[in-house]
Amino acid sequence: MRVLLLSDIHANLEALEACLAAAPPWDLAINLGDVVGYGASPNEVIDRLRQFCRLHVRGNHDKACTNTTEIESFNPTAAAAALWTRRALTPENLEYLRSFPPGPLTVADIAGVQFVHGSPLDEDEYLIAVTDALDALLEVSAPLTFFGHSHVQGGFFLYAGYGSELHTRIELGNQLQCSEVQLNRDARYLLNPGSVGQPRDGDWRAAFAILESDSHTVRFYRVPYDLHTAQRRILDANLPDRLAARLAIGR
Ligand code: ZN
Repeated sequence: MRVLLLSDIHANLEALEACLAAAPPWDLAINLGDVVGYGASPNEVIDRLRQFCRLHVRGNHDKACTNTTEIESFNPTAAAAALWTRRALTPENLEYLRSFPPGPLTVADIAGVQFVHGSPLDEDEYLIAVTDALDALLEVSAPLTFFGHSHVQGGFFLYAGYGSELHTRIELGNQLQCSEVQLNRDARYLLNPGSVGQPRDGDWRAAFAILESDSHTVRFYRVPYDLHTAQRRILDANLPDRLAARLAIGR
């Protein structure tokens, strides 16, 4: 089965459309959370997702924008965006967003794989360094976990008792790029497809991944998108300027 993995879209319609246009045909699409927050197209993104994506994990911004959780832990920029999003969402889309379950999520046809937003142990935890990931790598029994939340494409693996970072071997650039990783059946992985709508790994291009569950391969993608339209929408919506500026540098 070929699975399209999308995470941290953050209401960036232009980035989502570019990923969908670049993706090869897939059998199943899974959203790892944070559909909204930061970007200016929350309704457009949710309307688009409703057309093709049936499996969603909730993210912290999804919770914050539906009043499911408080926004006190958010920085002022994120809080301003969450309040704007609460007002912008249609009642139908609010309800839809509120229905997203917490991870880990599993799919009957894909054995040994689970899907979360932050960490398998805590949906709101950030896995940034391998030291953050070790507890989860040691405690979780699933050989492969896909996560989001950090907005950094790549991840971590545990092999022969040692934990390491997994690098995607994608160079900085402005063109479409793809890098394939062959998974070792004796290793345990935590993999992040990267953020569709607000990458923070220094690469401005939208990120997603494809899992080929039969051949145990994952392909990581970076996709150029219409950055200027996404930025203009943010500024036109009177969202904080920084949310537009950061998209250009991938931070
Ligand atoms: Zn996010």
